Amino acid sequence: MKNISRPSLQEAENAVRTLIAWAGDNPEREGLRETPKRVVNAYREFFAGYDADPTKILGKTFEEVEGYDDVVLLRNMRMESHCEHHMVPFVGEAHIAYLPNRKVVGISKIARLLDVYAKRLQTQETMTVQIANMINDTLKPRGVAVLIDAKHQCMTTRGVHKIDTSTITKTMLGVFKTDIEMERRFLEMIR
Ligand SMILES: [Zn+2]
Repeated sequence: MKNISRPSLQEAENAVRTLIAWAGDNPEREGLRETPKRVVNAYREFFAGYDADPTKILGKTFEEVEGYDDVVLLRNMRMESHCEHHMVPFVGEAHIAYLPNRKVVGISKIARLLDVYAKRLQTQETMTVQIANMINDTLKPRGVAVLIDAKHQCMTTRGVHKIDTSTITKTMLGVFKTDIEMERRFLEMIR
């Protein structure tokens, strides 16, 4: 990602003040006076993924797995991200599997990778592909499967107001793509 110059803390807080006024309220009233500070702090957390390098997360791998050669699946991982179109949350679950090629990675690293991509302005489609590609490029496994199932607040609380709609995106690479049985097995396992 290209480096962009960050505004100062003061500039960021002022931008929040502007948005409060744009919404129609008075940023100087008591209840709102500290809000810009809190919003900026919340942004640090929501968008912490910009300061992390996903290539480093999967750097440490293990080959001593007693010949384990079956699927490694992390199922039902909660994911929280923000859509890049409206900057409101989309929240759901991610399921990430790979079929190792001798090398495995600590399972918490996969969860961490999910967070690094989720804690950015995203589309669900982009994020799904980014996670799959990063695992594929780094671990060189025999296959990767990523499925994300999420609800987008830009659809549930505004616009079309389709409150029960969830969006599913998936990326299959390697054997999960070439072997329909492997994809079926993955979908079966996450059910
Ligand atoms: Zn949106």
